[in-house]
Amino acid sequence: MFDQLTERFGAIFKKLRGQGKLSEANVMEAVKEVRTALLEADVHLSVVRSFTEEVRLKALGSDVLYSIRPGESFVKIVHDALVKFLGGAVDPFKLSRRPSVILMMGLQGSGKTTTAAKLAKYFSGEGKSPLLASIDRSRPAAAEQLEKLAKTAGVDFVRTEGPAVQAAKFVRAEAERRDRAVVILDTAGRTEVDPAVFEELRAVLDAVPVEKRILILDAMTGQSALDVAKGFSEGAGVDGVILTKFDSDTRGGAALSVYASLRVPIVFVGEGETLDRLAPFHPQRLAGRILGMGDVVSLVEKAEKAAEEKTLRADEAKAAAKRMVRGEMTFDDFLDQLRTLRRMGPISEILQHLPGGLTGKIRLDAAGEAGEAGLKKIEAMILSMTAQERRRPEILSQARRLRVARGSGVQIDEVHRLVKRFEDFKKMMKKVGKKGMMGL
Ligand code: GDP
Ligand code: MG
Repeated sequence: MFDQLTERFGAIFKKLRGQGKLSEANVMEAVKEVRTALLEADVHLSVVRSFTEEVRLKALGSDVLYSIRPGESFVKIVHDALVKFLGGAVDPFKLSRRPSVILMMGLQGSGKTTTAAKLAKYFSGEGKSPLLASIDRSRPAAAEQLEKLAKTAGVDFVRTEGPAVQAAKFVRAEAERRDRAVVILDTAGRTEVDPAVFEELRAVLDAVPVEKRILILDAMTGQSALDVAKGFSEGAGVDGVILTKFDSDTRGGAALSVYASLRVPIVFVGEGETLDRLAPFHPQRLAGRILGMGDVVSLVEKAEKAAEEKTLRADEAKAAAKRMVRGEMTFDDFLDQLRTLRRMGPISEILQHLPGGLTGKIRLDAAGEAGEAGLKKIEAMILSMTAQERRRPEILSQARRLRVARGSGVQIDEVHRLVKRFEDFKKMMKKVGKKGMMGL
């Protein structure tokens, strides 16, 4: 699983690490390679697009270009995007009703029946003594298969008769009678997305209060799993996905496509044929695995530290001050000023110590919002600019401003305001400099 993607990413990072400093062109090249790697891993095109856009915006705007370890900063950006696209911080799979009815849905052969038994075993391990039942009427052997698996798992199986709706009602009543917390219902599947299946599922959902509609997806089917997921999502609704056959030699497209396009969390993954091979899904861990580093976390921390370490040396500071009084200040200088201010302590306190004339202006500079929140926003906007834009703000066209706004999650008006205020501030600093207040 993911071996190929891991290899590709590894090569991209290695190349970046080999370069001491990165140019915009280097970054664009790496982003392009990330895109190719994802496409080769059979990730859905729409997901590939938004993923690469995210990485591009972050990488061009962030400190990657300036970082002491640019390769690692880039790894962090890809890592964070992977985590986000895999579902971010997923809530643990929790059940709150009694009995909780779990409906197993999916295509034939996806691993529904096996996973129903795995899930029952999982809950049994949590001390929940679940009931397993099949409401699959299309294949009589299906119920027998589940009964056998239930025996292996050591959980109770309920035999049912009649149509699916009647069977589902019966099992739920049985769970109440036996005071069981969890009921897992295996349903009929077809070899393709079929309206008749959804009709039956909807009838069951109407008749029985179901807490979790779980869609079982075969990870080996790659991005076509996404079409299945869309079908079930529209046809019956989906609360969570379980990806099976994660142990197989798949390229991982399904795992990266499902959450990113449907916003339905992956809750478990099946990692083998035996019943103990079911594991809760952790985006963070999987991202680490995909990047092929047991220790991505410490790497990420290192990258963050490197960014912090980036302090202006004395001569750089002097040069920046000179630029400032000449009215040649750049957004990079501006950012350094802001960061220095922030490192010094709560901004409101600092403002009190500044000469009266400046205080009001700096307040204004905080995008009209005094204090930390405003400064953070400004920082985010500047970080979303490319190196060139920071040096020469006059090239910030409407399109570029829009990109900056999207990259930093603000309205374009705020970017306009920042640029305007930056120019004002620049002019003011020039005036102050002329009066000799800076002693330069
Ligand atoms: P259903 O038709 O959806 O009920 O699918 P089944 O539960 O009958 O499973 C179909 C096949 O997939 C069986 O041979 C299972 O052993 C196999 N299978 C299910 N889950 C996994 C898994 O996580 N890993 C592997 N390797 N095989 C699995
Ligand atoms: Mg089955």
